[in-house]
Amino acid sequence: MKNFKKDIRSLSKLELQNFFLSNQISPYKGTQVYKWLWEKGIHDFDEMTNLSLSHRLLLRKNFQIRYVRINNKQYSNDKTIKYSIALHDNLAVESVLIPTSKRITACISSQVGCSLDCVFCATSILKRMRNLNIDEIFDQVFLMNQESLLNFKRPISNIVFMGMGEPLMNYNNVLKAIQKLTSNDGLRMSPRRITLSTSGIPKIIRKIADEKVKFKLAVSLHSAIQNAREKIMPFANKFKLDELLDSLLYWYTKTKSVVTIEYIVWEGINDKVTDIKALVEFCKKIPSKVNLIQYNPVDNFKISEASQDIINAYIKALTFSNIKVTYRKSRGKDIDAACGQLANKLISN
Ligand code: SAH
Repeated sequence: MKNFKKDIRSLSKLELQNFFLSNQISPYKGTQVYKWLWEKGIHDFDEMTNLSLSHRLLLRKNFQIRYVRINNKQYSNDKTIKYSIALHDNLAVESVLIPTSKRITACISSQVGCSLDCVFCATSILKRMRNLNIDEIFDQVFLMNQESLLNFKRPISNIVFMGMGEPLMNYNNVLKAIQKLTSNDGLRMSPRRITLSTSGIPKIIRKIADEKVKFKLAVSLHSAIQNAREKIMPFANKFKLDELLDSLLYWYTKTKSVVTIEYIVWEGINDKVTDIKALVEFCKKIPSKVNLIQYNPVDNFKISEASQDIINAYIKALTFSNIKVTYRKSRGKDIDAACGQLANKLISN
């Protein structure tokens, strides 16, 4: 039978306090319950050991506790672990745990599927089904943290919103989840260790800049030439590069946080000298650093990474103009866990 009780995790701290007040109980109980839910991540009212039996019964009578759960795990040879996460409605997203000697990064999804149609990204094959709720985003991080402790004996150190979906198309829930993750009642993560990666939606970049958020911003640029960008990221015809640049300048003025430009170099798409020059000019206009991403091939996609010589030419030109650039090896390729390879293969099969 379906459980129609309200999910207690949809209540704010104040609402929880008010619930107890309206039952003639000290509102402080609400604060305690909030901590159990968001700091300790318990799954059952009986685990709330500082609540009396009658208070626990009262909660059970009125609410349910909903959680996401791990559906499947895949281990890569490089120690990356990919998780399929089942949601309340049995849809699924993927989260990835990426360990290095210095840090453990959790790569988190923000939507089920994606409405953008980037021609190089596996997630584009899936239709956007829905946005993730605040708790579904929070829970992925919570689970990744537990898994990190279990597998690597260390908590996660960094969070990147580079999983499935476009976080700025679900910015309300993403921002609220980040608030919870960074708050003292939550995981107490430092916002400086959280990076939100976006395909670049100027209006929303301005909006989050106004909220003076403290996390880092990464933008998937992939081309600094409008026509070329539209070919690989067709939605970019609605968001022109000069508007994007303006919004990034605005972001920097408000947050003083340097933007990371994510960029993949593909054969026949952005492998010319003019492409390199355009990127250098773009980066000169905004405090930024460039993260050249290795292209992770997706089955049946007819697009491939440019030669190392061309990538080196990019690195040389950027370095010559004093623009910081990194080119990192991808992790988890053997289990389709690398950037742009998340497509719920297991679930859809
Ligand atoms: N929608 C957001 C976040 C998800 S994609 C965004 O566009 O930024 C996270 C990163 O993976 C982006 O930089 C994206 O361009 C990159 N990416 C997508 N497909 C990829 C692939 N096949 N190989 C390498 N990186 C890819």
